[in-house]
Amino acid sequence: MNIRLADRMSQVKPSAIRELLQLGADPSIISFGGGYPDASLFPLEHLEAVFRSVIADNGHEALQYTVSNGSPKLRGQIAARMSRDGIDCGADNVLVLQGAQQGLDLVAKMLIDKGDVIITENPTFLGALIAFNPCEPRYATVRMDDDGMDMDDLERTLARNPGAKLLYTVPDFQNPTGVTLSLERRRKLVELANRFDFVILEDTPYREIRYQGEPLAPIKSFDTEGRVIYLGSFSKILAPGLRLGWAVASEQIIQQLGLLKLAADTQCSTLNMAAVSLFLDTYDIDAHIATIRRTYRRKKDLMLDTIRRTFPQDVAFTEPSGGLFTWLTFPEGFDTTRFMADHALPEAKVAYVPGATFFPLRQEANHARVSYSTQSDEAIVKGITALGQLLTARLQA
Ligand code: PMP
Repeated sequence: MNIRLADRMSQVKPSAIRELLQLGADPSIISFGGGYPDASLFPLEHLEAVFRSVIADNGHEALQYTVSNGSPKLRGQIAARMSRDGIDCGADNVLVLQGAQQGLDLVAKMLIDKGDVIITENPTFLGALIAFNPCEPRYATVRMDDDGMDMDDLERTLARNPGAKLLYTVPDFQNPTGVTLSLERRRKLVELANRFDFVILEDTPYREIRYQGEPLAPIKSFDTEGRVIYLGSFSKILAPGLRLGWAVASEQIIQQLGLLKLAADTQCSTLNMAAVSLFLDTYDIDAHIATIRRTYRRKKDLMLDTIRRTFPQDVAFTEPSGGLFTWLTFPEGFDTTRFMADHALPEAKVAYVPGATFFPLRQEANHARVSYSTQSDEAIVKGITALGQLLTARLQA
């Protein structure tokens, strides 16, 4: 049958990269491609205890439907954590989501009509483009440097697109670059949003995975007009399979997003919300996060030290202060997709994510995202060394 698809489906396509990454599933390949957290860090014992106790002590309620914005208790706990992070909010400013990913989908549905402009960092998180695309937006991009989005370039982009409705940013340890938006630029961004009347979507699932230095105030903390929507997630600090994240925004925005959430999936799992709520009550999640940070910092140091030792000088890499990724930039003309298929996979037995798909407009071929999160210390050294040796031979040939 020739199914007559909606126009929006022309924007919904499988990525060619997926196929390449599937090759990375071969156990003889060391993959730095995925962005999964390290599963050995999931607090299994404590999660088992809270799930057991939620069912044993409160099973009828925990397995029943609940309100679509999320269990009031968990919303209050999230609001308290957010307040400690400098965001003035209460439970009514919180919407519990099926991961931060659902926030990307719902915010686009709430704001974007076909042809509306979304401004993104260049490069940006691929999952955000996948969530935004069915709304058929136009994209405008902003240059980045070591301090995140370049504000002069943003002003130029806004001058060209004065009606832009939404700006999407991952300000802390960005996926894919690992770069963090400076404090000064966070303030400036809100100033520009007020002046040009756009909404800021601050997506920050890695915020608490910081290795060094003090946290920079969230963009939301500078919001004076209720135009910043903050997205957080339990995926990196507890476990992504729980599918729990949250939005913090004005009550007006939370109400609109709540209506869309009701249409999308009624609510998040009552059981998972109850279990996470009990976890927050009975265990010290900050102590758990400290363990996660130590582990990733060690892996990050190991990866960067090995890159420094074995990569040719003309491959640049970012030095993230947190998160799961570093971003490699190769000389102009180098094509990381082709190099992975022709050399990295068959010869070095290593996979990464070629950078091209992270660019909403003009795809740059000479970058790659590498993640240190899931591989063992030995595999990081082995894989990066093999890649470095191969690159040295190829780039200097
Ligand atoms: N935003 C960014 C920047 C991400 O990297 C991810 C996941 N890797 C998400 C959102 C979605 O996370 P989740 O839905 O698991 O909370």
